Amino acid sequence: MKIYCARHSGFCFGVKRAIRMAMDAMQKYKSVYSLGPLIHNRDFVAELEKKGIRIIEDINELKNSDYTVIIRSHGIKPTILAKLKKKGVNIIDATCPKVRRAQLYVEKLKQEGYFVVIVGEKDHPEVRGLLGYAGENSAIYSEGIELKHRKIGVVPQTTLDFEHFYHAVKTLLPKVTEMKIYNTICDETILRIKEALAIARKVDIMLVIGGKNSANTTRLYQICKSFKPAYHIESVKDIKKNWFKGVKRVGITAGASTPDEQIAKVVNYLKNIKT
Ligand code: SF4
Repeated sequence: MKIYCARHSGFCFGVKRAIRMAMDAMQKYKSVYSLGPLIHNRDFVAELEKKGIRIIEDINELKNSDYTVIIRSHGIKPTILAKLKKKGVNIIDATCPKVRRAQLYVEKLKQEGYFVVIVGEKDHPEVRGLLGYAGENSAIYSEGIELKHRKIGVVPQTTLDFEHFYHAVKTLLPKVTEMKIYNTICDETILRIKEALAIARKVDIMLVIGGKNSANTTRLYQICKSFKPAYHIESVKDIKKNWFKGVKRVGITAGASTPDEQIAKVVNYLKNIKT
């Protein structure tokens, strides 16, 4: 069986940077907390916890100003950042610079009087953070969105796929008189989707590796699935041998929060499968 593994897969720049910053913090400080899991990968987060990085969901859990808090690559709302500063804790801001750029665009649109529409998943931490910068005059895009404003600014989540973004812009355009768009979709997302599609076209089945709680992995899986039979797996343990009956070519891609070791384990496992 021939294996095609995407070059653009696994940890992205922003995730690598956040992990590096968290590791450095561990060396330097005593009580290190991450505001939400550092990445959307259960096994990796469990490893980090073993190393001493504790996860908190609510900043009220921080009782001591000696604590160090890591803001993950998705970023946070400005109001939460202000509260953290007020608490006097040591803040390690690992917000990905590309997410930060999106936050600044949202802030600019708000200041210029635009009604801000964020295109992305409503429960995703990055989207919640962006909405925080947009203030009350904002909404998350949905198919039947009702706009009370005719002058809007549109910003996508950094890991959104272009098709989804085009569709949103096309739907919004007839409803407004003015639309200002900032394209904040990250290059890594674009390359990842392009390569996954190119591989999906030439193989019999696709395996997409990454946390079930990872939005970008789930999107990669859905995109691959629309071309070929595809399976979303978290690790090698999820693979079933009967998927490979008669399969001559298998493709592999992985989300932005999938460690290289998890990808390598899947590749090794597949190399030893007889079809
Ligand atoms: S996908 Fe892009 S924007 Fe998001 S964390 Fe990774 S590098 Fe940053």
